Amino acid sequence: MRFPLPRPAWLLTMCISLAGCNAADRPADVAPPADMRERVDLVVEGAHVVTMDAANTVIEGGAVAVNEGVIVAVGLIEDIRREYRAAETLAGDSRVVMPGLVNGHTHAAMSLLRGVADDLALMDWLNNYIFPAEVEFVDAEFVRIGTELACWEMIRGGTTTFVDMYYYPDTIAEVVEQCGLRALVSATVIDQSSPDADNAADSLEKGIAFVERWQGRNDRITPIFGPHAIYTLDAGQLSATRAAARRLHAPLSIHVAESPFEVEYSQDNYGTTPIAMLDSIGFLDGPTIAAHVVWTADSEIPLLATKSVGVIHNPTSNMKLASGVSPVTQLLGAGVRVGIGTDGAASNNDLDMWEEMRLTTLLEKVEEMDPQALSAADVLRMATAGGASAIGLGEVTGSIEPGKRADIIQVGFDDVHHVPTYNVVSHLVYVTDEQDVDSVVVDGRVLLRDGQFPTLDTARIAREARDLGSRLRTALEERNR
Ligand SMILES: [Zn+2]
Repeated sequence: MRFPLPRPAWLLTMCISLAGCNAADRPADVAPPADMRERVDLVVEGAHVVTMDAANTVIEGGAVAVNEGVIVAVGLIEDIRREYRAAETLAGDSRVVMPGLVNGHTHAAMSLLRGVADDLALMDWLNNYIFPAEVEFVDAEFVRIGTELACWEMIRGGTTTFVDMYYYPDTIAEVVEQCGLRALVSATVIDQSSPDADNAADSLEKGIAFVERWQGRNDRITPIFGPHAIYTLDAGQLSATRAAARRLHAPLSIHVAESPFEVEYSQDNYGTTPIAMLDSIGFLDGPTIAAHVVWTADSEIPLLATKSVGVIHNPTSNMKLASGVSPVTQLLGAGVRVGIGTDGAASNNDLDMWEEMRLTTLLEKVEEMDPQALSAADVLRMATAGGASAIGLGEVTGSIEPGKRADIIQVGFDDVHHVPTYNVVSHLVYVTDEQDVDSVVVDGRVLLRDGQFPTLDTARIAREARDLGSRLRTALEERNR
């Protein structure tokens, strides 16, 4: 280390320039007043703290103290400042502090297939575009780049937890480990030649090995099984997957009753509805995250509550693929835990949970022909505490309360669409977009601050994604020629 001045002169300069550096003037027996405040790693301050606790508490001029990844206190800014000395503080002027968003269903790496095929029905889209493109192009490298791209987008937009279902789950988990997000990573089980397995038995065997490898390895990452759907697995394969999940105490996520095709397939092959079929083989007896749940008979809704199935509503995907409208109001009314997901970026076409919240409430209002259906507060809960509960992480994340992991975001309320603000929760649901998110903290670690992503090399990810995209475009053009 080089000093700009000879050492004694430098020390003198420092002492003149720093207030309080007057040890020479102070009697030797009077020590500076000790700071009695408790030391914590991080304090996040806000003009409002929307806690999403059971009472929907919103604190004006609030702050959250975080230590070793855990929320240790929530309160008024002046109280937190008086009690805690933070190594780092995220200032809160005109910012709203809230829990990070929970994206309950996605296929992260499909962000590389965004816009490859649009304006098609689910089965046409899947069978004639997505599955063939995946068999041809998807490998571990594709999954790594695609998942990094998706994690970047999710951090940018304030998502802190997601449930993924795709191929090469080890690669997905490695990316999640590195980027700092929280995730349930599914090993896809599917009875067809897929990028990382030959058939159902092969994908299940690999899935079991994946779950065993990752259980207990990283508290942020929960390895789970992802049996694809009742039309890509038969009853025996679905039962075998549930049995493996039960043996390993792992949850599973599955697409359920997504489209009219699935209902017809279920009637033709099992003589009953998708939900009744799954129930008849005991598949719902264990932690289950059911994505979509659009086509469900009224009589089946109480069953989903009884079996504690977590339902994930995917409004954009359901609208874009014309799959239908999930009966969200009835599900919530029956006590079903319902969260929100974006689905993959190939059927959305982004991972924007703000848009998903807005569409959830707007779609429900027009479906019910009732402007009071699904209030802003209801939807905000589905995207935070409710979603966390639906995916089995209700004790871990989803609200700002002491004891929970510190998954917290700051939303800037400076931009024109937030001026003036009468009701913060209304603005979060009906106005806010991804670009308003200023800071993201997961497990106490800052993943977005001042436009910087400390865990991501965004320039490299963008370069690799563009390169892969142009190779994919060329190959698709050749194939379609
Ligand atoms: Zn899906």
